Amino acid sequence: MGYRVTLIPGDGIGPEVTAAARKVAEATGVSIDWEVVDAGEKAIKLTGNPLPDAVFDSIRRNRIALKGPITTPIGGGFRSVNVALRQQLDLYASVRPARAIAGEGTRYPGTDLIVVREATEGLYSGVEHWVDRDHTAAETVNVITRKASDRIIKFAFELARREKRKHVTCVHKANIMKTTGALFQTAFREMAPKYPEILADERLIDNMCMQLAKKPSDYDVIVTTNLFGDILSDLAAGLAGGLGIAPGALYGEGLAVFEPVHGSAPKYAGSDKADPTAEILCVELLMRHLGEKEAADRIYRAVWETIAEKKFVTYDLALPGYTSRPVPPSSCSAMAGEIARKVPLVDISKPLPQAPPHGMPGDAALEA
Ligand code: NAD
Repeated sequence: MGYRVTLIPGDGIGPEVTAAARKVAEATGVSIDWEVVDAGEKAIKLTGNPLPDAVFDSIRRNRIALKGPITTPIGGGFRSVNVALRQQLDLYASVRPARAIAGEGTRYPGTDLIVVREATEGLYSGVEHWVDRDHTAAETVNVITRKASDRIIKFAFELARREKRKHVTCVHKANIMKTTGALFQTAFREMAPKYPEILADERLIDNMCMQLAKKPSDYDVIVTTNLFGDILSDLAAGLAGGLGIAPGALYGEGLAVFEPVHGSAPKYAGSDKADPTAEILCVELLMRHLGEKEAADRIYRAVWETIAEKKFVTYDLALPGYTSRPVPPSSCSAMAGEIARKVPLVDISKPLPQAPPHGMPGDAALEA
């Protein structure tokens, strides 16, 4: 009997990248019995509901899920399936590691950050309305509670302690949001002394963006509220090499759902072009959660070597403008096939080589 894991293929590129991730999971030899449930566009077609009860039932039963991205209509239509899933299952901690891999596709080959984002409240509370009948004024309510702030900040410090990280930065906007921002800031200031071995500091969100763009290596673990975390995790993904390689995890009490930072990238849907790495690295995080350390290490190493070798990489790691060493791009399935082939062969006993310190094309011109 293997592990039973819920699988939500999702929309757009979701079915392609989750198929790729399954293939790599199988290559580890860890037996997983996938329980496939639909959410999003396919679920609407089948049941009229983008988030049927079967999805909640399956995740609550299995307590672990791998999820593809799900499309959200912009400016109208149904509420985000992703936000609803997080709120209804109380998946409060969104953990998004931004690791540069083999120095590819990034100006910052040393990037190794973790963004910890509160995922159930803030400006995603869903409490919003038009103020007037003509729809010329609107309000969205930013709900910040002490309870949710305490638990996400504690989660970030515990993660830092477990992973031997040295520095936790709290990001807020307490100079302008004098109630919600100050509440989160106070929760951080009162929690930090319980972790004396960890350097704790604070940044305003605007300054944080500038600091990250200038020198991401100054940061380690970042803890913040929902919207700031959403934005900072895309920024951190961009610094580390792009959305194509950025995995994520959502944790609640006894529940874990693994999903990439990226969305459903509709323009690439069905074209076998999307980078499968982010979803594959979600399987790496899933294996760590299951205690399957060797399988997780093999996946990370196989991804690293495939990207370093650059024989089979998708467009975002291959084409001029994305990398300093352009190569012909491979398909999503070819890259996943190569990673799966390498998984049982890689030597996980030797340390990963240091990425060469190089920049992207155009850096020399900038410096001149
Ligand atoms: P997106 O992440 O889908 O795409 C942003 C950019 O990154 C695009 O240029 C896309 O081509 C590129 N990209 C994304 N994933 C890639 C991959 N694996 N390989 C190569 N390139 C990749 O963001 P968007 O366009 O703002 O959103 C599209 C849809 O996805 C929206 O409906 C949005 O609501 C939804 N979304 C869902 C989630 C989720 O399911 N958790 C997260 C973010 C966005």
